[in-house]
Amino acid sequence: MIIVLKDRITDSEVKTIKTYIAKTGARIHESEGKEKKILGIIGDLRDLDQMALEAFPGVAKVIRILEPYKLASRNFHPKSTIVTVKNVRFGDLEPVIIAGPCSVETEEQIWDIARTMSKKGVHVLRGGVFKPRSSPYAFQGIGKIGAEWLQEAGKSNNLPVVSEVMEISDIDLLYDYIDIFQVGARNMQHFKLLKALGKTDKPIFLKRGISATLSEFLMSAEYILSEGNDQIILCERGIRTFVEFSRNTFDLNIVPMIKNVSHLPIVIDPSHATGRTDLIIPVSLGGLVAGADGLMVEVHPRPYEAYSDGNQSLNYDQMNELLDDWAAIRESVIGLRKKKQKDIEQNVSNYSG
Ligand code: PEP
Ligand code: MN
Repeated sequence: MIIVLKDRITDSEVKTIKTYIAKTGARIHESEGKEKKILGIIGDLRDLDQMALEAFPGVAKVIRILEPYKLASRNFHPKSTIVTVKNVRFGDLEPVIIAGPCSVETEEQIWDIARTMSKKGVHVLRGGVFKPRSSPYAFQGIGKIGAEWLQEAGKSNNLPVVSEVMEISDIDLLYDYIDIFQVGARNMQHFKLLKALGKTDKPIFLKRGISATLSEFLMSAEYILSEGNDQIILCERGIRTFVEFSRNTFDLNIVPMIKNVSHLPIVIDPSHATGRTDLIIPVSLGGLVAGADGLMVEVHPRPYEAYSDGNQSLNYDQMNELLDDWAAIRESVIGLRKKKQKDIEQNVSNYSG
């Protein structure tokens, strides 16, 4: 439930409303936008009477939210959330480019990639050190030492770094080394992990599960939000379909859909979505035109030697091509984003899926 307050409501009127709500045991999240002040009410709302709330002085209107996700919904928070990591802003007009290897392999490898990506104008460095592999016999990641190399390589090249945590104990292990915690597709519904991440003060890069619906995806974000961490970046990384020519199917639809129903930024990952280097560039450009707040791609100096996902990693020349193509349309895309931003924030759609 959302209570939209009148512009000139007094502090004591707000207090009266909050006391009334608190008596029912529901929780209150205050949100103050430029134009509207909103109280978001979550919890068991059976004892809250919409008509009674509307009668309180200072209340403009009361809206029941149909979506199962509340804090993640744009109804609750019409203004787009901007997630800030050092000098990078996810959800602002400039789409953020994240690049790096699937796995951190050696110190030399991650330094070479960091230096090269930084020179090309990439904003964030990625690299897995704990790898969720489909086979127990496949490379499982280099472990904590890889996070130390990643941190050093990122720091020296002015790139914030993102790496995956697979279990709760990884959070403490990686906390001092990385700037963004990634939750992989296979862990999107690892609810205890999500709750633990909700208690941290670092941004979370939450990947969509391979068969997750929009609501399930946003409910996972809700787990993190409900623990107090609102620095969430969503990531569309492809879903499982009947299509056999690509590893997964990139769900372009979800990009504008998320922008409609949620205030959280959404990044696309065409490497995992396609599993093929020949599809990464066109899919990247399509996703950015459709409104993605950023792009994550796997890059390796010699993909044929990669410990994991070489078949979906761009080499440096291919990365140049992607960035050149992006540069050719970047200004028009940013212009379009500027034009659409207000529309998105004012015409919030409802989807209760
Ligand atoms: C990754 O980004 O390295 C990864 C394992 O991705 P996903 O969880 O989307 O498969
Ligand atoms: Mn990978």
